[in-house]
Amino acid sequence: MTPARRAEPLGVHPEAAGAWAALRVQLDAIREAGHTLPCESNPEHWVGEATAEREAAAEGCHWCSIRTACAAFGVANREPIGVWGGIDRTRLTPSRGAP
Ligand code: SF4
Repeated sequence: MTPARRAEPLGVHPEAAGAWAALRVQLDAIREAGHTLPCESNPEHWVGEATAEREAAAEGCHWCSIRTACAAFGVANREPIGVWGGIDRTRLTPSRGAP
């Protein structure tokens, strides 16, 4: 998942293919322009175990130009962990052992 290639998932569910294609177009454009994404400088924060760490990462998404597409993909692909488009999806996933 993460980045230097942070916004690239480990796998894409078939139902998320459209969202991935949309995100991929924007990722490619950013890379072709020689720009970087906020999550590419410290990608480990976007999937950190500490909630505070992921909260800080989510703040880092705030000005990202592909935030909307990234968040949409995180939802469509049901990403179980990490911050996608400013949304901490780890917090949305029940912890192991939860009833
Ligand atoms: S919205 Fe956040 S996680 Fe998605 S590409 Fe931008 S910086 Fe990375």
